[in-house]
Amino acid sequence: MTTRRRISILGATGSIGASTLDLVRRSPERWEVAALTANCQAAELAALAREFGAEFAAVGDESCLPALREALAGSGIATGGGASSLVEAGERPADIVVAAIVGCAGLAPTMAAIAQGRAVALANKEALVSAGPVMTAAVARHGTTLLPVDSEHNAIFQCLAGNDPADVRAITLTASGGPFRTWSAEQLAAATPVQAVQHPNWDMGAKISVDSATMFNKGLELIEAHHLFPVGLEKLRIVVHPQSVVHSMVEYRDGSTLAQLGPSDMRVPIASALAWPARMDTPCAPLDLAALGTLTFEAPDEIRFPATRLARQAAEAGGAMPAVLNAANEVAVAAFLSGQIGFTRIPAIVAEVLGRCSPPAPVSLSDVVAADAEARRAAQSMMEPA
Ligand code: NDP
Repeated sequence: MTTRRRISILGATGSIGASTLDLVRRSPERWEVAALTANCQAAELAALAREFGAEFAAVGDESCLPALREALAGSGIATGGGASSLVEAGERPADIVVAAIVGCAGLAPTMAAIAQGRAVALANKEALVSAGPVMTAAVARHGTTLLPVDSEHNAIFQCLAGNDPADVRAITLTASGGPFRTWSAEQLAAATPVQAVQHPNWDMGAKISVDSATMFNKGLELIEAHHLFPVGLEKLRIVVHPQSVVHSMVEYRDGSTLAQLGPSDMRVPIASALAWPARMDTPCAPLDLAALGTLTFEAPDEIRFPATRLARQAAEAGGAMPAVLNAANEVAVAAFLSGQIGFTRIPAIVAEVLGRCSPPAPVSLSDVVAADAEARRAAQSMMEPA
């Protein structure tokens, strides 16, 4: 008889949350759901909590707690609201916690899960980008494991298995190039939120879709890779691969390059993280390379898409600068999605905030939160009329 594994999902109502729960739904005998969280989609969260028999359901936005309580009345499922409830969800006993909240809002609950020694399947890249050394030190201190869910990092994790990191010559992150890969600078200046969230290969939440369009997603991933696979920033590269079939590659000193390939379906890397170090089934159709025919690769254009250059600079500067970059980007993306600013203002605002803010290097979670807040204030001030 297989022992059931306990799982908590932070950000259960999102795109990664849905893909994770789809896998759980397919083999209910293997899983016991401890905690599920959302920000304010109380009805959706309640429905999931009932379906999966969760022990605890929490909303980050406390004003949504009454709706959650009402929707779960009589179910016996414990409820919570506000930042402390998200932390409680991360702390609850579980074999694995899926960190799938979008943005730095996921940092405290992810750190809480790490502090309890839970294995963390990490999708919430903004948390690691912002907290970098603070998070990796906590992982080491509490003797736990970060299992990358981001498809590129999951690919690299698989390609590194069984190898000595000292033998790595280069790690190459692949990037789809997003929906605007072939657009001119003039077209980019007029790009709308509706166009930006229409990713050619992946079906994702709005924020990461915009990040893919600006290439900040790849910039954040570069910093994420720097922390997950500390081979040196100079060994991390980016190549644009529009088909999103090769998810990333590791080149070794003997000239061998190992790549991981798979369909553009997040259930594959999620399954890899959930089952690690074993494997589990997914419903994803296997790759048909003959049908695909051609895989292409091209160098990134950092003139039209300066995000990867800005991210590399922030990673090189270290300290609080990745948190500043991330926070400025979160504010700018939200402003773009609400129609407040144009698409090309996103990298411009991030560059300006990086120039203006230089908080001290964080040594604790509260330092990261302070650096994040300072950068948010600076970015926000650029939204206001001059
Ligand atoms: P979604 O926007 O689809 O979902 C975000 C989830 O986080 C929802 O459950 C949402 O709750 C919750 N949430 C949002 N804001 C807050 C907040 N302030 N406090 C607490 N919870 C909050 O995002 P995705 O699933 O697309 O992305 C999640 C993370 O995974 C991101 O960091 C992204 O970069 C990363 N990722 C995503 C991939 C994808 O394919 N989608 C691929 C690789 C990485 P509610 O529904 O109530 O708003």
